[in-house]
Amino acid sequence: MKKRILGALCALILLIAVILSSCASTEPRSASFQSMDTLMTVKVYGGDKDLCDRLQQRVTELDALLDATDENSDIYQLNQNGKADVSNDTAALLERSLQLSEKLDPAFDITIYPAVKAWGFTTGDYRIPDDDELKQLAAKIDDTAVQSDNNTYTLPAGVMLDLGAVAKGYAADQCDAILKEGHADAAVLNLGGTVKLYGKKPDGKRFSVGVADPDNPAGYFGYLSCEDGVVATSGGYERYFERDGKRYIHILDPATAKPVENGIQSVTICCDDGTAADALSTALFVMGLDKATAYYRAHPDFDFIILTDDHSVYLTEGVYDEFTLCDGYDFHLKKVDR
Ligand code: AMP
Ligand code: MG
Repeated sequence: MKKRILGALCALILLIAVILSSCASTEPRSASFQSMDTLMTVKVYGGDKDLCDRLQQRVTELDALLDATDENSDIYQLNQNGKADVSNDTAALLERSLQLSEKLDPAFDITIYPAVKAWGFTTGDYRIPDDDELKQLAAKIDDTAVQSDNNTYTLPAGVMLDLGAVAKGYAADQCDAILKEGHADAAVLNLGGTVKLYGKKPDGKRFSVGVADPDNPAGYFGYLSCEDGVVATSGGYERYFERDGKRYIHILDPATAKPVENGIQSVTICCDDGTAADALSTALFVMGLDKATAYYRAHPDFDFIILTDDHSVYLTEGVYDEFTLCDGYDFHLKKVDR
């Protein structure tokens, strides 16, 4: 009899332990921190206890290497001296960016820095360069001039780099490796406009990612239901200034060195590859709706959501059925076929 009671007790303790441990893995661990000029939030289900810390450390480390305005970064040193030995991370991202740039030419160019700086987007001291200055700036935007020998990079005089359009996407890809190593079950990493989704949520439901409302960027005009991958958004609303009633945004056309003005408010890309998603969101913004659509039709490895000034939302085949417009938004959803 005593044995039976003891047995039942052991079974009960085991059951409670199983219930407790399964509860623990359904409650995510989370952390918020400031990096890459934005607030980031990471939420991790299961896996090693220190995963949030490791993710934060990795993103912070990348920011310190890649931020063109930080005097200690690889990119700052390269821009100042025209030559630098860079870390493996910086070299890997530069290599990747130059490959992407070739595919996305002429909409995407990582030598955009002098133009971004001239308009005041690096400091907040905004100004409008005159036509002569713009011509000179545009003439120096050419990332085919970047030379490398292993990790040693060389820039011609006057050419400077800006990895702002791809750094968060690269960080998302690096976080993927950390989540794998740390045996996470699932994770949602909001790296400020670039959202990394990992694994399956404990409740089995798909992830839901909000797409920012440009008129109220803290809110969303719609939600996208998706699985693993990266959802990256580029929007004029993220950084801009206004003069005489006109808005000048931080996404520039490499051909003119001027802020883009083409009727697009935001471009959201869904893609397995974070670096590509980030580059594409910036590049398709510059291309405009027609060229972006043609690019999509020629490249089957991503989807887009493009919001235009007239409140039309263009959604490609892979995301059209997964998108829900929020109540109160009188936007027109339009499907873009392959
Ligand atoms: P994102 O928010 O990913 O679209 O990145 C925008 C940032 O990328 C800007 O703040 C600039 O630092 C940089 N940038 C702007 N225009 C371009 C461009 N055409 N190609 C590459 N980088 C750009
Ligand atoms: Mg980008």
